[in-house]
Amino acid sequence: RRVIEFEQVTLEYPATRTLALDNLTVKIGKGEFVYLVGHSGAGKSSFMNLILKRALPTRGEVRVAGQPLSHYRGRRTPLLRRRMGTVFQDNLLLGHLNAYDNVAFALRVIGVPQREWPGRVSAALRTVGLEHKTHALPMQLSLGEQQRVAIARAIVSDPPLLLADEPTGNLDPDHSREVLRVLQGVHLRGTTVVVATHARDLVETYRSRTLTLRRGKLVRDEHLGGYAL
Ligand code: ADP
Ligand code: ADP
Repeated sequence: RRVIEFEQVTLEYPATRTLALDNLTVKIGKGEFVYLVGHSGAGKSSFMNLILKRALPTRGEVRVAGQPLSHYRGRRTPLLRRRMGTVFQDNLLLGHLNAYDNVAFALRVIGVPQREWPGRVSAALRTVGLEHKTHALPMQLSLGEQQRVAIARAIVSDPPLLLADEPTGNLDPDHSREVLRVLQGVHLRGTTVVVATHARDLVETYRSRTLTLRRGKLVRDEHLGGYAL
């Protein structure tokens, strides 16, 4: 089953007449772990933004879970966001809330009954290896740990799809590997994971399908990865 499908998708920013994505066709199936690599400006964030419906294609169609994005309109818009968890370079944890409350916040937003929070938040913190930091505030955590809390927040709602855009962008190599290991763990539990990155060593440490963008074009799609721009 397809989780994400791009069919001849072009995204042009009219203001700057930039062709951010140029006639992209690609399918990502359920349970895959996919890297999206490319130099800065290649179109990685544009790809993510289309899936999140933060941008609309100029031409072509994007489908999520078999449905064209136009299906997720009006009252159905929140359904789209519930199908995916997101992790970005700047994880934007709430500084005045501890790890538990930052993760629980995601459940509050989607209206999960409060009695379910403790079990689900503990399970998510366990998945990222931070059950012992439940009561720590973000400033008491390393950047890598903060990013793992952000991953726990993204997966606590059990989304079928996890999107990570430069999740190790601010991290040193050790913390980056830690975060990657956590993403692998999420993948091994059955979640489809898409990671946009230009961290070569990561892509080479845990090899998996790798899509390479160059100036908006998909120039490589390789099953066991490897990073070459
Ligand atoms: P940015 O996105 O920060 O503008 P790039 O994506 O071009 O930069 O590259 C990030 C870093 O990785 C740079 O230091 C660059 O030299 C290095 N790099 C990128 N691609 C390759 C490659 N194919 N071989 C070796 N080094 C690379
Ligand atoms: P990446 O994430 O790989 O760095 P982006 O998807 O952010 O690449 O950018 C692709 C191209 O689109 C770049 O040339 C960038 O300058 C341009 N771009 C991105 N966002 C906008 C925007 N909001 N308006 C105009 N041009 C944009």
